[in-house]
Amino acid sequence: MESIVLAKILVVEDNALNIKLFCDLLTAHGHEAEAVTDSREALDAARAFKPDLVITDIQLPHISGLELIELLKADSDLAHVPIMAVTAYAASGDEERFRAAGAQAYVSKPISVVRFVESVSELLESAGVPVGSAGEHEQGDAASAQEPPT
Ligand code: MN
Repeated sequence: MESIVLAKILVVEDNALNIKLFCDLLTAHGHEAEAVTDSREALDAARAFKPDLVITDIQLPHISGLELIELLKADSDLAHVPIMAVTAYAASGDEERFRAAGAQAYVSKPISVVRFVESVSELLESAGVPVGSAGEHEQGDAASAQEPPT
């Protein structure tokens, strides 16, 4: 396990299994992950945590992931933070809507562990955050990614 935190990543996700999966993957790659399960707390959490990247589920109660992306982009202190959208129900045109709202990347559920980790590294690199050599800590348990979509 690395002793230096590479990046601070806020995870907004209402499903406990996905929270554990995402946070385990991120910490295994040297990142510090903070999880928010109630999207109504996400904006305040982002202001306090000052993440290098936000990963948000789209299907969230109260404030949807799409609304949250718009709130983050409307905050002058957070507008620069890259956002990765994760969703189980992407219909035709959804990716364009996520990108139009301000998400730089989109990963469908159940996630591919490799695609998830690569997207995180790409977003951090494009934002100028050092990410080291991705892929050294692959867990390789693809079955753990087969969570029920929510
Ligand atoms: Mn959800």
